[in-house]
Amino acid sequence: MNIANDCVVAFHYTLTDDNGVELDSSKGQDPLAYLHGHGGIIPGLERELEGKAAGDELKVTVQPGDAYGELNPELIQAVPREAFQGVEQIEVGMQFQAQGAGGQVQMVVVKAVDDENVTVDANHPLAGQTLHFEVSIADVRQASEEEIAHGHVH
Ligand code: ZN
Repeated sequence: MNIANDCVVAFHYTLTDDNGVELDSSKGQDPLAYLHGHGGIIPGLERELEGKAAGDELKVTVQPGDAYGELNPELIQAVPREAFQGVEQIEVGMQFQAQGAGGQVQMVVVKAVDDENVTVDANHPLAGQTLHFEVSIADVRQASEEEIAHGHVH
């Protein structure tokens, strides 16, 4: 069957960035399964998979606007070191949970550290990146009514 809304799709993928660096892959694992038409994967990839069938292989390039969004400079902020009390050593690349303006929990990554401040970035790690997927579709099936009602694969 061909991929349409309310299908469960299982696919293998390799994700690379603009420089050909591999960012993620399902190699050696189970294929990724999602419920088509319910926003379970990024919109730019979901759109390209529409109509495809098991056994199909395709390459898809997804612009940031159809993936994890553009980089938002307002989400990169300098925070006083005092805010990190209890953390002995703060290094570039470390991840912390922070409270957003609306009280929601978000992940931030340390971008820079100096004596006074720690610069943290709350953008999604893939924000602003053009993503290149190599996809191989493993299986397509009709979702159960329960899966459709829940909006995810069981
Ligand atoms: Zn469920």
